[in-house]
Order: sequence, then C-alpha cells, then structure tokens
Amino acid sequence: MTKVLIIGAGHAGGTAAALLRQHGHAGPIVLAGEEAAAPYQRPPLSKAWLKGEAGLDDLLLRPESFYVEQAIDLRLGVTATAIDAAARTVAFSDGTTETYDVLVLATGSTARRLPVPGGDDPSLLELRTLKDAERLKALLGPGKRLAVVGGGYVGLEAAASARALGADAVVIERMDRVLARVASQTLSDFFTALHRAHGVEILTSAEAQSLEARSLEDGVVRLADGRTIQADAILVGIGAQSCDGLAATAGLACDNGVVVDEQARTSDPAIFAIGDVTNRPVPVHDGARHRLESVPNALEQAKQAAAAIVGRPAPTPEVPWFWSDQYDVKLQIAGLPFGADRQVVRGDPTAPGFAVFHLQGQRLLCVEAVNAPAEFMGGRLLIGKATPVDAERLADAAVSMKAVAL
Ligand code: FAD
Repeated sequence: MTKVLIIGAGHAGGTAAALLRQHGHAGPIVLAGEEAAAPYQRPPLSKAWLKGEAGLDDLLLRPESFYVEQAIDLRLGVTATAIDAAARTVAFSDGTTETYDVLVLATGSTARRLPVPGGDDPSLLELRTLKDAERLKALLGPGKRLAVVGGGYVGLEAAASARALGADAVVIERMDRVLARVASQTLSDFFTALHRAHGVEILTSAEAQSLEARSLEDGVVRLADGRTIQADAILVGIGAQSCDGLAATAGLACDNGVVVDEQARTSDPAIFAIGDVTNRPVPVHDGARHRLESVPNALEQAKQAAAAIVGRPAPTPEVPWFWSDQYDVKLQIAGLPFGADRQVVRGDPTAPGFAVFHLQGQRLLCVEAVNAPAEFMGGRLLIGKATPVDAERLADAAVSMKAVAL
C-alpha cells in the first residue's frame, strides 16, 4: 500500500491528508509539522482571533480526534531536516527517519526579516503562526501603541485589529502607497483613507532604517528621513518567503518556491509540493508561473496532489482568489492583474461597494471588489471562462454583471 508522508501540517498539508482519505486512499498517511497545534487557519490570526472574536477551536481545520478516526498519523512539534530522495526517506529533528512512497511538501512560507540594523532582534514581532499572534495580542490594548513596518494585507489587518482592541497604530510603508505590490492605486487610496478614518497613522514613502526593540514593550523605528517612531510593540510585516530550503537541498527544482506542474508534481516523480511553498503554473492565466500565498491556492493544490496520488482525474483549474477583512470592509480579489492594459472602476471608489476591474483588451484579468460580492462573483466567472467584456457596461453599476459579457 502506498505510504504518503506529508511535511508541513498547515492549511495545505492538513487538507491534503483529509482529501486522501476522502478519496479512498487506504495506505498509511503521516502528517508531520513543526508547530505544536494541529492544522489551523491563519487568516483569523490578524482578524477575528486577534480581536478576540474567535477562539482556538474556531481556528482548527478539523478537531484533533479527526486525525485519530481517519488513521492519519499526526506528528506535531517535529521539523523535517533532510530529504534523501534516492532512499525515499526524510530525517526529523527528533532523530527519527521516516520512509515514503509519495512525499508531499507543504512547508509554507516564513515572514521576511527587515534587512536593517536591529532587523533580527528577537523582540520584534512577526505574524505568521499562532504563537506569533499570541505574543502580539498580549501587547495590544488601550494605551498601547503598535508600529507596523510594512503596509501589506497582514500589517493593515493587524493595525485594524489593534484599533478594535483600543490600541493606537502607525503603519510605516517604504513605497508611496500601501498595498503597492498587491493592489491597484484605487484600492490603496481607499484603504489609506479607511485606516486614517479609524485613527491609524499611515506613513508612506517612509523607509525604516533601523529598529531598536529595547524590550518587547519598548521599541523605536528610525526612518531614513530622520524621524523616529516610538511604540510599545513593533510588528514587521514585509511579506513572506517560500520555505523551499529543504526541497532545494534535496535537489528539487526551485525558483522562488518549489517548481511544480499543474498537478503539483515537483521535478521528482515521487514528490509533490503544495501551498505557499510552490512556484506554480496558473492555467487560467495562460500557465504563467506565480508563487501564490492564499488559502484558496493551498486548497486547490491539495486537491491536485490528492487526485494525482489516488489516480483520480485532475480537478478543474480554479481562478486564483483572495480576501482581506479590515473593519467592516471585505475585500475580495479574483484573478491576477499582470498584463492588464487598463483599469475600470465600477461604483464610487471612496465608499465601500465598488470594484476595480483589470482588463487586457476585452479580456478581464482581475477584479478587486470592496463590499461588492456580485462584482466579485460575476468577475470571477468571467475571468474563468475568458469571456470578453464590454468595458463601458462594466463601468456602469446600473448594468448587471450578467449583462457585461460581449
Ligand atoms: P502554512 O499554513 O504556513 O503551513 C506550513 C506549515 O509547515 C507550518 O505549520 C510550518 O511550521 C510547517 N513547516 C515548515 N517547514 C517545516 C519542516 N521543515 N518540517 C515540518 N514542518 C514544517 N490567505 C487568504 O487567502 N486570505 C486571508 O485573509 C489570509 N490572511 C492571512 C493572515 C495571516 C496572519 C497569515 C500569516 C496568512 C494569511 N493568509 C491568508 C495566507 C494563508 O494563511 C496561507 O496562504 C496558507 O496558510 C498557506 O498554507 P500552507 O499549508 O502552504 O502553509
């Protein structure tokens, strides 16, 4: 019977294990991860859980009893240290070695460190794991001030949650707008105004030159322009990088992530890779390669690997999508904007309930929807089917999303 060893008990790894059993895989499954908790969802760590609106049980993908019932050998608190691809074994930090017939790498990504003096101080906070989130939460409350270095989704969500807990928050962004790497100017402008309206200080074109975390509760961010920002806690949220070191050392093809195909296969036929750790082709976007960091991506690739392992037909390719919650605003993004030649705004971009569409000629590539579920869902369908659209009708909020197709 085929033995499947999954390294990384996060969203992708936990889902792949469950899907394998669902698809009737009867052989042994070992799911090994370095964190202490059973597979859990990370999105609430910067949102509902951080604000105290969700507990640990709400985070878990499945209760721990599920793994026992499904005969999934869940090993927590162990780090895979080396893969011997020829011998088909993996060595772990506790001195054990595990064999496999099929290996699934689901090691995710880690928070980037800021490459400035003081950037590796252990008193700085990052937000990737439950442990990180617990540390952050303990420092937030009335009278506290959080400085967030990096105006990306995680940083902005943490700032919104800090405000909900009564703390002050300042966001320090190197670029001339927040969300610069991941969203349109329209969206950046909207979220900047939203945060300012909620009392968050947003500093753009502000480069952190050095960090001094004098203690966990006393830090200073020094900016390149000479300003200093005093805070009780400093959170660095400048993006994540693929945990592909294990794969690269084992000789697997890696290029900003483990290189996989449309079925999540790596360059070794016995090894799959899924989730944040991968560099994958996106069929809906002409097979262009991307390293996507999102729950839907982790789920899609878990489905691909599980289907390939049990010999089921490959699942239908999905349109990449992502969401972010800040205050009472839900942002939903479908598709990828790369290659777009124009943007069309539908609705009033200064108030929730609008969408930005990214077009390449008549082809819709991406929709950014702010409290606009119909635009998100309609846009996602149009992107998936590559249906040509009429830009003028798209811009007219009075025209239904069904009527924008050409
Ligand atoms: P992970 O869930 O990170 O799991 C990887 C696991 O592998 C980790 O537990 C890690 O410890 C373990 N591991 C790594 N190396 C080893 C090793 N050598 N041996 C053993 N174990 C190892 N996505 C959205 O779509 N929407 C959101 O709103 C959203 N919000 C987010 C908020 C936060 C704060 C964070 C951190 C992420 C958010 N994401 C969001 C991203 C989403 O959570 C990730 O894309 C998703 O968790 C990726 O799943 P994964 O299984 O690839 O990686």
